[in-house]
Amino acid sequence: MGEEVVYFDDDNLIRYGHDETEDFVFQPDVVVKPKDVDQLSRLMEYCNSNQIPVTPRGAGTGLSGASLPINKGVLVSMENFNRILDIDESNMQATVESGVINHNLREAVENRGLFYPPDPASKGSCFIGGNVAHNSGGPKAVKYGVTKDYILNLEVVLPSGEVVWTGANTLKNSTGYNLTQLFIGSEGTLGIVTKVVVRLLAKPKHNLLLWANVAKATTACRAVSDIMKSGVVPSGMELMERKGIDLACDKLGFNNPMVSGSEAAIMIEADGDNMDQLYADCESISELLEHHGIDSVLFADSGEQKEAWWSIRRSIGEVVKTYSTYKEQDTVVKRSHLADLMAGVKEIGAEYGFESVCYGHAGDGNLHVNILKNNLTDEQWNGSHLEEGIREIFRLCKRLGGTISGEHGIGYVQKKFMNEVMTESHLQIMRGIKLAFDPNGIMNPGKIFD
Ligand SMILES: Cc1cc2nc3c(=O)[nH]c(=O)nc-3n(C[C@H](O)[C@H](O)[C@H](O)COP(=O)(O)OP(=O)(O)OC[C@H]3O[C@@H](n4cnc5c(N)ncnc54)[C@H](O)[C@@H]3O)c2cc1C
Repeated sequence: MGEEVVYFDDDNLIRYGHDETEDFVFQPDVVVKPKDVDQLSRLMEYCNSNQIPVTPRGAGTGLSGASLPINKGVLVSMENFNRILDIDESNMQATVESGVINHNLREAVENRGLFYPPDPASKGSCFIGGNVAHNSGGPKAVKYGVTKDYILNLEVVLPSGEVVWTGANTLKNSTGYNLTQLFIGSEGTLGIVTKVVVRLLAKPKHNLLLWANVAKATTACRAVSDIMKSGVVPSGMELMERKGIDLACDKLGFNNPMVSGSEAAIMIEADGDNMDQLYADCESISELLEHHGIDSVLFADSGEQKEAWWSIRRSIGEVVKTYSTYKEQDTVVKRSHLADLMAGVKEIGAEYGFESVCYGHAGDGNLHVNILKNNLTDEQWNGSHLEEGIREIFRLCKRLGGTISGEHGIGYVQKKFMNEVMTESHLQIMRGIKLAFDPNGIMNPGKIFD
């Protein structure tokens, strides 16, 4: 393939042997950074014929260990697939290579008055291909939906080396099985996505952002549910526990908007084209918050203020990680059960002896539970007692009508918990689908299920 795309020096093997999941490192045998589809296709054909495991990798920001080459073999980095190929303004769609950074796509279309809503907090580094593979969400999902709602068509290199398009560049498509949606969330276990056609919206002209300090996080959860019921649809509703906010403000050197006695905060954004309507929406939201006893509500009064508050929210995962290694659980329940989930997580933590910092996309019922290692020994951290505690959290999610991942995927770390929410029949159907695409089992083996 040429020396300039094949690497097996220690630096590369270590760098591509980890992602953002806990402190795992699994070095591949070799790192390949293909430059085009033809090169990638030949690589896949070779690996398939020789039964060599292939692990696709985007930016390596994943939190479920899905891009860890746990079976060694070839790590395929998609970083050279970084071109925005076309922005079709009249049809409001764009075609990009899968290694384009989420933020770069958003910025490029916004310059033309268009809008690509999915905005993971990692948007400054994660790739569109990684977003597709995990069906990633972000703060705007509460109003606009997640990655799956914006993907029209995918170019994919199959394990055999064959290159296929999964659908059509149309807004509607009822032509047989929906292979596009099948690839979304497949975590690189069926093939490698090389091009992505996304649907775009018109960019909303204005937004308002408010920050509400709350005495009890569970009260905030209840208020979130009532806001959605009221008919106002915010474009973001993020919940953060105090510890995450304090750590983020210390790290960023920001004034801390929290007041004493507050256990958590919610950040609520409303967007649209009509400023009067936005003020009216925020007025209704404030009244509803007040109804729940939440009266410490601040409005961001400048673009800088908005950016500062969003930076606090976006940096929580990273700052908690620098404070302590953590195991992140990406729990999701029906929105109205969020308060029960939050309360249950804390009770389970007390019973099993772990501290957690919770934050996430409250409007979607999606709560990230970061379980801190703190002073736990390695034996306790990796032992069956803590695992049982995590299992209890997932059982609670199921009882509350939810599941074990809302947006981070199953990957390597959550697969042992799949049986909590999937029956053996579910898993057999998934294995059958995998077999149809990848009969030799070379694509990202050991992810989602064994
Ligand atoms: C600070 C921080 C904040 C985050 N915030 C959010 C958030 O708000 N919402 C959210 O949903 N996630 C969030 N994440 C998780 C992560 O950023 C997303 O899962 C993201 O989509 C991963 O993209 P990536 O390019 O880094 O993929 P990687 O981590 O490199 O890979 C993820 C998976 O995608 C597969 N893959 C990558 N590229 C391809 C391809 N071209 N074809 C086939 N398979 C491929 C890999 O094999 C792997 O299974 C956050 C992570 C961090 C560190």
